Amino acid sequence: MFGIGLGSLVRIGFRVSDHILKQQEIERSRTASERARLQAEASREKAIEENARHRRTQLEDEIARASVAVECPNCGATGNRIRKGSTGFCQFCGTAIQISSSGIAYIADPIEKVKALAAEEIKQKSGDSGNDKNQ
Ligand SMILES: [Zn+2]
Repeated sequence: MFGIGLGSLVRIGFRVSDHILKQQEIERSRTASERARLQAEASREKAIEENARHRRTQLEDEIARASVAVECPNCGATGNRIRKGSTGFCQFCGTAIQISSSGIAYIADPIEKVKALAAEEIKQKSGDSGNDKNQ
């Protein structure tokens, strides 16, 4: 009586605790997967944001690469930054400097100078939309 009683009690006890453990495990894995899902969602949002920031930086880099630091062919000043393929003015002596698309600086011919002056004037009149503040 003692052997049978205890044996089946233990067996039932094992089965019950086994059941509870399984339930707990299911519950735990459910909350874990929920947590993982939320984490994945958060990291995906972060990745999208990161990606957008990266693209912005790339764009800024591209603009920076398109403009070159030029030595003024007239006075030798080195503080000017002019975009490749455009004409700018030396901020020290006012010479119109033309930059070839490959980045070579030379004194702009009179026609280029007039064109650049006109463009500058238009830019100033339109309030210089603020796109080119980094020159
Ligand atoms: Zn100069």
